[in-house]
Amino acid sequence: MMLLGAERYVTQNYQQHKTAEDYSGSHLSPIKITGRAKVVRVVNHYKVHEDSINYNDFIKNQGKWRDGDYYHCISITGKEILFHKDELGGNCVEVEGYIGNQYYRYGMFHMASVNVQVGDIVDSNTVLGLQGNTGLVDSTKSRSDVTYGTHVHLEVTNASGNYINPREYALGNQVITYLEQSNPIDTSVDQLVVVADKINIRKDATVNSSDLGDVYKGEIYTILNSQEDDLYTWYQIKTNLDLVGWVAASKSENWIQVNKKIEPDPPIVDPEEPEEKPEQDEYILLFTCPKTDVYYLTLQEGERLYLKKKTT
Ligand SMILES: [Zn+2]
Repeated sequence: MMLLGAERYVTQNYQQHKTAEDYSGSHLSPIKITGRAKVVRVVNHYKVHEDSINYNDFIKNQGKWRDGDYYHCISITGKEILFHKDELGGNCVEVEGYIGNQYYRYGMFHMASVNVQVGDIVDSNTVLGLQGNTGLVDSTKSRSDVTYGTHVHLEVTNASGNYINPREYALGNQVITYLEQSNPIDTSVDQLVVVADKINIRKDATVNSSDLGDVYKGEIYTILNSQEDDLYTWYQIKTNLDLVGWVAASKSENWIQVNKKIEPDPPIVDPEEPEEKPEQDEYILLFTCPKTDVYYLTLQEGERLYLKKKTT
């Protein structure tokens, strides 16, 4: 199923909306993507409808309500609510993947509820969540109508973080795939496991260095190199997509777990077992006693004597 099709139609197009398109559809209808992708961000703490922001009041009062990074708003149901400025999209799921070798990130907003977690690999069979009206939603419907403002707001961004017209993606004409960037488990080398939801990959081992992407919870990377500063231990990694960079492990918070390589056990030598036996036909008996006599040969305990075949 696509985001857009018989069930949903465009209510605000990219030219009007600038960074996204809005698609109407049935309230609580399932939201799926076409293809395969990784969940990289989830917000799922707003209740259906109750916590939705009253759009008209918000537009009128946003200056007055803004308090640092938060908005103190009145919800559709008249309840006082606190919204972070990044969460005007209400409950949402963001996924990432590739079309060809081009990176894309999809964000689907205003969900009633979310069924997935950060780190999940999702495909066309996964219900990411249900269409809803959480966050800042506009509608001409009555506020008492539970479908007030229900829609899917779809944003698509590329590797540079630029917004692109999401229509082809919503129609399923462009199919996203997920390429595993994490390394396979290898107990013969030191590896790290990402414990935090997300850590940036930096070009160099400093926070000011350019951002090359992210690693996510549960991913595993072989440690190529490491270095310390006051706040972080930095680990150099190479992803399976051949991206080389540094990730930081906070010294005060649990971001990364290091799995030390397992040293192989030394080989067990059984003193009772004879060492490698020589090939039989390389060795023959060179001396046959011609008569009864006394010959002396002194051997230490455990020593063996072979007579080597004469070679010409
Ligand atoms: Zn929208």
